[in-house]
Amino acid sequence: MSVPKIVILGAGFGGLMTAKGLQKELGYNEADITLVNQNSYHYITTKLHEPAAGTSHHDHARLSISSVINTNRIKFIQDRVSAIKPEAKEVHLENGEPLSYDYLVVALGGAPETFGIKGLLENAFFIRNINSVRMIREHMEYMFSRYQEEKREDLITIVVGGAGFTGIEYVGELVDRMPELCREYDIPLEKVRIINVEAAPTVLPGFDKELVDYAVKYLESKGVEFLISTPIEECTEDGVILKGGKEIKAATIVWTGGVRGNKVVEESGIETMRGRVKVDEYLRAPGYDNVFIIGDSSLVFNEQERPYPPTAQMATQQGQHLAKNIASLIRGGELKPFKYEPKGTIASLGNKEAIGILGDKKMTGWSAAFMKKIVDLRWLFLLGGISLVLRKGKL
Ligand code: FAD
Ligand code: NAD
Repeated sequence: MSVPKIVILGAGFGGLMTAKGLQKELGYNEADITLVNQNSYHYITTKLHEPAAGTSHHDHARLSISSVINTNRIKFIQDRVSAIKPEAKEVHLENGEPLSYDYLVVALGGAPETFGIKGLLENAFFIRNINSVRMIREHMEYMFSRYQEEKREDLITIVVGGAGFTGIEYVGELVDRMPELCREYDIPLEKVRIINVEAAPTVLPGFDKELVDYAVKYLESKGVEFLISTPIEECTEDGVILKGGKEIKAATIVWTGGVRGNKVVEESGIETMRGRVKVDEYLRAPGYDNVFIIGDSSLVFNEQERPYPPTAQMATQQGQHLAKNIASLIRGGELKPFKYEPKGTIASLGNKEAIGILGDKKMTGWSAAFMKKIVDLRWLFLLGGISLVLRKGKL
């Protein structure tokens, strides 16, 4: 007897939560489940700012997919999705045969939003995946290694474009890394410039002012320069050009100016807004009852009709909910509407400092930093229980 085919695209926060949930919810003979991901490993996107600065090794931010799913239960295919064909109910892969499905879960994450800024794709780095953060760290170290010979200030100037959560967390890691890096390359710490450029009139636009002030004061005390109300208009081989024409010469430019949806989703024919799909209350794509879209590829609106920011917290809750819904659907049951329950936000400022709001409680300093580590450990717990926490977790 043939069973329904479920295909999950992407093994990030959303995709893995769906896979783990389906593995738990469904019996062996109830569905044929396939997970596709371009790498053999899952990278923990929420930790990528650390290896990008070199404060931890990139292996701390990834784990093998076969170690967290039951590959007897879920077929894992390592390949790149090249196209989604919802009309034909097919997914095309770069190397393998097309996959057909009865239910499709699209959890391919997002992509950097460059707003068409000239030169950004060619000259800036992005905190996006294991490869991209390895390149940032290696590049920055090479620039520092050249300083003694060439004595060019731009070699030890780092521009971070965008002071949202990614930019601020990355700058926090850079602050932690600099003393060691400067010792290694015999560079006086005070000569290094870390410049965080933000288009909006404030760092972390929309976030609690008291916490923003705390973060700015702490990072400035460690030498970070903030340039607010100053959009980057162009990125060149030599640095960035700001609105008004001022140029900052920098050999390392990291763009953290925002995210949009995945190109594969954008090209699928499904309606998108900046590459993301406005899903219905059951996380379905408009016009396709058997295509579910979650995580950074999806857009969910709150009661005021404003989109929730794309976060791991959102992707995780969607994946957990969707697994239950698909299991119910397969058994002829009802779908339950998805309701996002924000638990709070914590942003690290390096290893020992952070800011955050949990419920209505504001946190700063080491207690917030400790809470951030607990949130990171929770993800490992959801993926692999206490044994994975003990194996991979670090406080
Ligand atoms: P992802 O986790 O990005 O997973 C997508 C997966 O799909 C990846 O494995 C990718 O390799 C794969 N993939 C993509 N394209 C293809 C393709 N064509 N073929 C095959 N596979 C493909 N959010 C929080 O809630 N809290 C935080 O503290 C936090 N910190 C962050 C820190 C940083 C530095 C960054 C960059 C983001 C942070 N976020 C945080 C946001 C969060 O990481 C994302 O919202 C979350 O990862 C989205 O999950 P996802 O499952 O949609 O996508
Ligand atoms: P973002 O969109 O939140 O922030 C991007 C920032 O770049 C904005 O402040 C924007 O004004 C600025 N910007 C845009 N164009 C610019 C320009 N031309 N010049 C200078 N600045 C410019 O993007 P992000 O920080 O990458 O975050 C992406 C998502 O991931 C968000 O939903 C965020 O909440 C989430 N995230 C969460 C955490 C956390 O919870 N700790 C950490 C990182 C990311």
